Amino acid sequence: KQTRWTPKDCEPKQLPIYQHKNKLIQAVRSSTFLIVTGETGSGKTTQLPQYLHQAGFCKDGKIGVTQPRRVAAITVAQRVAQEMKCTLGREIGYQVRFDDCTSQDTVLKYMTDGCLLREVLADPVLSQYSVVILDEVHERSLNTDILLGLLKKVFSNPREAMKGRSFPLKVVVMSATLETDKLSSFFNNCPVFEIPGRVFPVASMFGTAVGPKDVESTFYVKEVVKVALDVHTSEEAGDILVFLTGQSEIEHACDMLFEKAENIDYRYDVQDRTVEGLLILPLYGSMPTDQQRQIFQAPPPGIRKCVVATNIAATSLTINGIKYIVDSGFVKQLNHNSRVGMDVLEVVPISKSEAQQRAGRAGRTSAGKCFRIYTKGFWEKCMPEYTIPEIQRTSLTAVILTLKCLGVHDVIRFPYLDCPEERFILEALKQLYQFDAIDRRGRVTKLGELMVEFPLHPGLTRALLKAASLSCQDLLLPVAAMLSVENIFIRPGQPDKQKEAAKQHRELAAKTGSMNDFATLLSVFNACKSSDRPSGWCKENWIHWRALKSAFSVETQLREILLRLQQRRDFPFETFDGNKSELFRRCLCAGYFTNVARRSVGKVFCTMDGHGSMVHIHPSSSLFEQDVELNWVIFHDVLVTSKMYIRTVCPIRYEWVKDLLPKLHEVDVYELSSVARQ
Ligand code: ADP
Ligand code: MG
Repeated sequence: KQTRWTPKDCEPKQLPIYQHKNKLIQAVRSSTFLIVTGETGSGKTTQLPQYLHQAGFCKDGKIGVTQPRRVAAITVAQRVAQEMKCTLGREIGYQVRFDDCTSQDTVLKYMTDGCLLREVLADPVLSQYSVVILDEVHERSLNTDILLGLLKKVFSNPREAMKGRSFPLKVVVMSATLETDKLSSFFNNCPVFEIPGRVFPVASMFGTAVGPKDVESTFYVKEVVKVALDVHTSEEAGDILVFLTGQSEIEHACDMLFEKAENIDYRYDVQDRTVEGLLILPLYGSMPTDQQRQIFQAPPPGIRKCVVATNIAATSLTINGIKYIVDSGFVKQLNHNSRVGMDVLEVVPISKSEAQQRAGRAGRTSAGKCFRIYTKGFWEKCMPEYTIPEIQRTSLTAVILTLKCLGVHDVIRFPYLDCPEERFILEALKQLYQFDAIDRRGRVTKLGELMVEFPLHPGLTRALLKAASLSCQDLLLPVAAMLSVENIFIRPGQPDKQKEAAKQHRELAAKTGSMNDFATLLSVFNACKSSDRPSGWCKENWIHWRALKSAFSVETQLREILLRLQQRRDFPFETFDGNKSELFRRCLCAGYFTNVARRSVGKVFCTMDGHGSMVHIHPSSSLFEQDVELNWVIFHDVLVTSKMYIRTVCPIRYEWVKDLLPKLHEVDVYELSSVARQ
């Protein structure tokens, strides 16, 4: 039986921030930099920009609010548009990579930090903005950290700050409570505005399932499901928030919860007699936004809501009514893996401060409970005190190129809030040199200036530009687009469906006739695009239609950037004679020669980047367990579990990379660094 209900909403005037409205407006008026802190959920993200809008800050320029996560930017913009009763995309809009929902009229714009960084490239003094709000600074995302440094550099000196502008810029830095002293002293001891929060006590309990030896296990998904069901049957009314690490895991957990919840007999199994059902909702980054909206709505009377989420629910989005937390203790994180010499997505234990933040989500409206599935020993031995800022654990290649293009030549002495290790900076310089984006003296080349225009990984950009100079961008544009969206191929949870999907995917790959995963991406893209009923085609082939739709849009946008660049008089056109398959793979080599592996013994390959890591072909690849003569391959990325797997693989010939490989060893890092220190 379907019950109708009206969502109980949080009245903006009841949020803690409301009492401080006038003082906040005053504080923004009276200094260039301002730090605003307050508990998650106090109303910073949704309310402060509206206050500034009402106070007339949009008269001269726009208000820009950055978010590290794209979902947060979109959801919050929707919410604010709803509160202000305007159409999203008009006065209030958002912009995230490959998705611009703004117009001429937009005066309040939510965006990802990456988007603002791109705007700084085009307009270093941000002349269109009257206020820039950097939000969720405690998350310490790479782009936010770089923006902090850039804004400090440009706007610290009042005279410099007005160059190229007709009105001053106000910079507001917002963060959950941590590190305010550090932020304030970074911005020349600027004022700090603290919004006192209301927090209720949360009792945290350790579990017995995941101990110090289980750092690499995956059974935490099952355990989390078990604990969530226990909570549902034994605790009094109140919603549950479960923390897991990623989409497929979350969908799997939701399936299991559904199945088990169906067998609950509410007359006997459930202790609280007012609880009559369980509403299970997933929440992750690439979810359709209309589905996301449900998350915030109150469940029908008698129904308990259980949201199964990634870390996005830890700070960026606040869900009202949560009383119980089930914490897996893990998070998916992009880390620079020095064994592999590149960034890899890894599931790692969260930090203790992160665990406390997660627990705190249960105490917003009343006292709550947090059920950790890990032991005290896991907490003590496996969980670090704090989360390391992204800038200290991921590749800096794209960011360093951006800085160089902004005229920041000395990238070592840039004002970083926390300095990355020098070797990471050197590694980035080395890679830029290998891609011909900078020269031996660390200056940006013509190619580098073209590369910075693309919001893609530099290797992929390099391959795309190679294709463009050979006038065969139609081969690479779809590939770049497909690699920029998540989860093209559907991988069902149930074993029989899994087999069916895998078979279908193998057939798709076989159609290309080349056993090259990049070619499969290209062929899927083209086949779907030319189909009369693309969504049906996707369904038959176990392809995510939504992902492909985004890929179509991304491809159009990349094409536009490329067309603009090709019109420049100095665009480097080249010619090539050879067949199309070779042409395609050669273009790939131009960007992926850093990711070359050679067969070592049996099915094991050895990377050629100087790290000599032993890698295996991932089961999702069309080259997995194929009996072909396969000696040299390039690959898109590496997945680290118990083994190292290479994904999206393409066979190549040694001759194609022979001249490129020495570049990996030739460059004298010291030479680049001595320039960096000038
Ligand atoms: P902060 O930035 O201080 O963490 P927010 O401004 O994000 O706080 O949230 C303030 C309140 O608005 C919270 O109670 C939150 O649940 C509510 N809220 C935010 N977005 C939505 C939404 N899309 N739908 C319903 N409520 C929302
Ligand atoms: Mg916020």
